[in-house]
Amino acid sequence: MAEELDSFKIAQKQLDEAATIMSLDKQALAILREPKRIVTVNIPVKMRDGNTKTFTGFRVLYSDARGPGKGGIRFHPEENVDTVKALAAWMTWKTALANIPFGGAKGGIICDPKKLNPLELENLSRGYIRAIGEFIGPEKDVPAPDVYTTPQIMAWMMDEYNHLKGASKPGVITGKPVEVGGSEGRYDATALGGMYVLRETAKLKKINLKKARVAIQGFGNAGKFAFDIANKMLGAKVVAISDSHGGVYSEKGLDYDKLSAAKEKTGTVQGYKGTEDISNEELLKLDVDILIPAAIENQITSKNADKIEAKVILELANGPVTPDADRTLFERGILDLPDFLVNSGGVIVSYFEWVQNNTGEYWTEKDVYKKLDPIMTKSFADIIAMQDNYKKMGKKITPRQAAYIISVDRVAKAMKFRGWY
Ligand code: NAD
Repeated sequence: MAEELDSFKIAQKQLDEAATIMSLDKQALAILREPKRIVTVNIPVKMRDGNTKTFTGFRVLYSDARGPGKGGIRFHPEENVDTVKALAAWMTWKTALANIPFGGAKGGIICDPKKLNPLELENLSRGYIRAIGEFIGPEKDVPAPDVYTTPQIMAWMMDEYNHLKGASKPGVITGKPVEVGGSEGRYDATALGGMYVLRETAKLKKINLKKARVAIQGFGNAGKFAFDIANKMLGAKVVAISDSHGGVYSEKGLDYDKLSAAKEKTGTVQGYKGTEDISNEELLKLDVDILIPAAIENQITSKNADKIEAKVILELANGPVTPDADRTLFERGILDLPDFLVNSGGVIVSYFEWVQNNTGEYWTEKDVYKKLDPIMTKSFADIIAMQDNYKKMGKKITPRQAAYIISVDRVAKAMKFRGWY
């Protein structure tokens, strides 16, 4: 049978699996298998040639049992409602695992942002907020940046919402530039959170990070800061990294500052002097201690899971490991830490931004990092403790299943207290 790669079906399958292990109440499961609300909007946008073009967008609120919805907005030509639903579900589990007072949501617009000029992009961003304005707000649903959306776009969206409400509401959206209420420390929060998880993993598994070899797939916001922090904060040796063109390998280890300067000039890490060019597929199969997929989904699948040599996988990207591969890795004794733990640093600092906006009290970058570390450390410890609990009952569960059980239990309890079932 062909492997299931449809994101929403994967999200439902993961939930069903956790529900079976934890004997979740059937009524709770029925509520949690589908989003609470799906809004589809058609947005007329004035283009540079004077014509009006209509774009379709979505906003999915998956659950608000634990607080307002939280989740990014993607601009992508292949955006579709099923992907947005899956991402909104995963946001629900991510905020619950971090134990921050949010539910899960996600949004998207079908468009090719590379073909829009800045004015068209601004018109589209403002039009989207006018269309979904009644469904979002600091107490309802709080969007953020995601694929191909930027702090500038968040600033336009926040401004449009404030025009609609006739009031200053910076907490309607996070990921804004610091000048309009964004938080210090947001730009590298996802990677830093992931590296706190790596530090805790090393302690638990007795891995000496100073001697560890790391391979990273992806050189974007998540991958490149992971490279820098793994190197400078943890002292680990990054021997391979890639972008969409392919990767480079050096047994001696790569230098972040020099390699990023070279990529600035050539547009790719490939061809960098003193390194060997490798493909993305080869990078995944390298004999390293730590593998960090930090690019796109469905990279480790039933086709290559039996060839992965790393001892630990840190899923900094969303959905890089398919459910079939997950099982193979577990059977092979490879520790695969799930995306909604590893990359939750971004949403946690988004939560800090919302808190700062709502209280009007602003924190330094140092404050932000100090508050992020214990949340990441606790989430990791919760997962390990849950695995241990099940082990004592004679059942081995994966870190992803443990994380699901914690999150689903928290959301289900909130629904129960609210009287939803
Ligand atoms: P990005 O667009 O900044 O970077 C993506 C990187 O992946 C680029 O270097 C690109 O060249 C590379 N890439 C694209 N296609 C590839 C392929 N086929 N093989 C190898 N590399 C490829 O994106 P990002 O913000 O770094 O996000 C990366 C992943 O991390 C995504 O799954 C995203 O959902 C997840 N994530 C990011 C954040 C964040 O704060 N940036 C938060 C949570 C999750």
